[in-house]
Amino acid sequence: MNKKLVVAIDGPAGAGKSTVAQLAAKQLGYTYIDTGAMYRAVAWKTLQQHKPVTDELILSVVPDIDVDLRYAGGKTTVTVDGTDVTAAIRTPEVSHIVSQVAALGPVREKMVALQRKMAERGGVLMDGRDIATNVLPNADVKIYLTASVEERAQRRWKEMQEKGYDMTLEELQKDIEARDKADMEREISPLVQAEDATLLDTTGLSIDEVVEKILGMCR
Ligand code: C5P
Repeated sequence: MNKKLVVAIDGPAGAGKSTVAQLAAKQLGYTYIDTGAMYRAVAWKTLQQHKPVTDELILSVVPDIDVDLRYAGGKTTVTVDGTDVTAAIRTPEVSHIVSQVAALGPVREKMVALQRKMAERGGVLMDGRDIATNVLPNADVKIYLTASVEERAQRRWKEMQEKGYDMTLEELQKDIEARDKADMEREISPLVQAEDATLLDTTGLSIDEVVEKILGMCR
């Protein structure tokens, strides 16, 4: 494993991409880039305007937004215009509008340019929805990570419970289904498995098993 690889991981919401990608990145000594966090950052700034969320409002925050991702010590810190929003971008409110935000061309153009720049030097593991198909089509390793919607909702629900959010499993599953539908049906860079990506269904697999499989693909 001498060459510094570029690894692309795509898949639907709650497939466990960020959990396993972070662990695999740590093992490889690579940088982990969470592109979903960048779209969440734009969604967070939109909500900060305290106005009804319309495409116009979203687009109004894009030109001046400064989104920064720092990966250090196995953790990602996200800032928007200098404010640490690492926890604030994980609320149900942000999740609820993020697919609307991510469907807009000017939002994607700005974020994709940043993402490509971050991957320039290699040694990166990037996760998202359009990494293998659009952001890094020449990635060395391409993985499409998925799991049954029930299991994905279960995993997210546990995470949200631990953070103290009061949501039912049913509400969460509905939200995930709506987000997947929007992400798969949008016009620009929809979520789809790249032709040359390896499908990894994590239903019933432990985190360690998935990480091992990813590391195996990188060897
Ligand atoms: O990965 P995460 O679930 O945090 O992503 C949040 C949302 O950001 C997705 O539902 C999708 O709408 C958008 N996204 C995207 N393209 C990416 C990563 C995320 O459109 N590469």
